Amino acid sequence: MDAVNPATGEAVESYEDHSESDVDEALDQATEAFAEWRDRPLREREQLLEDAGEVLRENRREYAEIMAREMGKPIDQGVSEVEKCAWACDHYAENASDYLEPEHHPSPPGSTVKTVYEPLGPVLAVMPWNFPFWQVFRFAAPYVTAGNVGLLKHASNVPGCAVAIEEVFREAGYPEGVFQSLLIPSDLVDDAIEDDRVRAATLTGSGPAGRSVAATAGENLKKTVLELGGSDPFVVLDDADLEAAAETGAWARNQNAGQSCIAAKRFIVHTDVYDEFLDRFVDEIESLTVGDPMDEDVDVGPQAREDLMADLHEQVEDSVEAGATVVTGGEPMDREGAFYPPTVLTDVPEGCPADDEELFGPVAAVWEVEDDEAAVRKANDTQFGLGASVWTADRERGERIARRIDAGCTYVNQLVKSDPRVPFGGIKESGYGRELSEAGIHEFVNRKTVWVE
Ligand code: NAP
Repeated sequence: MDAVNPATGEAVESYEDHSESDVDEALDQATEAFAEWRDRPLREREQLLEDAGEVLRENRREYAEIMAREMGKPIDQGVSEVEKCAWACDHYAENASDYLEPEHHPSPPGSTVKTVYEPLGPVLAVMPWNFPFWQVFRFAAPYVTAGNVGLLKHASNVPGCAVAIEEVFREAGYPEGVFQSLLIPSDLVDDAIEDDRVRAATLTGSGPAGRSVAATAGENLKKTVLELGGSDPFVVLDDADLEAAAETGAWARNQNAGQSCIAAKRFIVHTDVYDEFLDRFVDEIESLTVGDPMDEDVDVGPQAREDLMADLHEQVEDSVEAGATVVTGGEPMDREGAFYPPTVLTDVPEGCPADDEELFGPVAAVWEVEDDEAAVRKANDTQFGLGASVWTADRERGERIARRIDAGCTYVNQLVKSDPRVPFGGIKESGYGRELSEAGIHEFVNRKTVWVE
């Protein structure tokens, strides 16, 4: 597997793909490791997770540099990502026992009836490149602590991240086979899901990849969790704090160079504040610094791959051809590397890519709406249902509107974000299942009833 630095176009370290027999060996090792791991006292599994958090903190700069080199994440955003992974480790190290505490049910006199949570076995996780550490720890911290063992098939452009994450578990002292990275292309994923040794699968990524994994898992009656794309609405009402909304909106759209599933992508603004919001928003967008991800003062790095930037630009061009107006940005930057400038589109017609599809890069589309009803209608007029953000001085009005938006997570006067303590996931074509919190650790366990007379 060859990673290419998107800021320079230069090759980064390359890694040999795993062969079919390597995968076979890894699945045997996972099965063997599971037999011992599932019986380890939970307290020991929690302790190892706490240690993994320590390893992450100690090496945060090194891991952030790998991300910067392989997918262009600005270095300080990479450091924050690694720290967030450590936070998830701490969270499950402290709370797994409570989350997995058996549940007692009413029972006839003399008998006990309870639900216990037991692991399923080896879980295959197919992961994307955009948050190459966070997406992995988001599944691994809860699932592995519940007694499952993890098999990671990471995105092909971040092999160094995949290898470094496997090393985190090794360095923390996990037994061999409890967490393994498979360096395989996506066309070997179906074989792995079909294999009897793999008990369940999870995928974070695009709709087509999710459909494929779900179809194969369905054929084989294996459970899946899918975290897919999004086109989150960012609704600005007439009484909103426009300064805060513009500043947060610009960041929500452009962090990680716009390559975030929960980025604000469609800005829906009340007509009374449309002009003022747009002016402030464009000012904020134009003040962002684009450049070398190794530079600590940079806000927006390159797109993760040249081909992804080309796809994004095609979506912008098609939207413009359909009638959209470019207010700022809109052309790849005239410099080495896959740099696309923070871009704002207005007058976006129905059915064009900026309206209908996910724009996975730093491109915001802005609409003007008459009232709350029109805002909710526009917010829900999408195939996706991941997150949503509503801005208003009236908290009750904000919550009322947030409750009417079809999404897995909605925020009032705040950008959409994930937090280990809070369930995360989507509806509609953004996927199903939940990660993080108690909900996350319960996704891949056998809720077993134990009735003793
Ligand atoms: P992607 O192309 O779907 O790739 C994601 C992962 O799936 C990679 O490991 C990829 O492997 C693998 N893959 C691709 N096609 C597959 C197939 N047919 N069968 C099995 N595996 C397959 O997505 P991406 O472009 O890397 O990531 C961006 C997408 O992920 C966006 O839509 C974004 O919104 C979504 N995302 C969602 C969340 C969430 O939490 N909901 C979080 C982050 C990202 P290869 O690299 O080898 O092709």
